[in-house]
Amino acid sequence: MFGREGMSQVLITCPVTGRPVYTGLNYEWPSFESADLPAQSLKCPLCGKVHEWAKNDAYLRADGAC
Ligand SMILES: [Zn+2]
Repeated sequence: MFGREGMSQVLITCPVTGRPVYTGLNYEWPSFESADLPAQSLKCPLCGKVHEWAKNDAYLRADGAC
């Protein structure tokens, strides 16, 4: 279940719908901060397009936020 401390989902914002999309990655906060993520692409389940994203575009879902 989500909501326990530890791994958080890495999300990006879909540029078409403006909504958060799960990238399929999970990180702990400290390791995400220091992670050297290469740019990657994601087939977006919301709009069906492929989005290129890099670490700067991504964020972790905080427990209980929104
Ligand atoms: Zn999209």
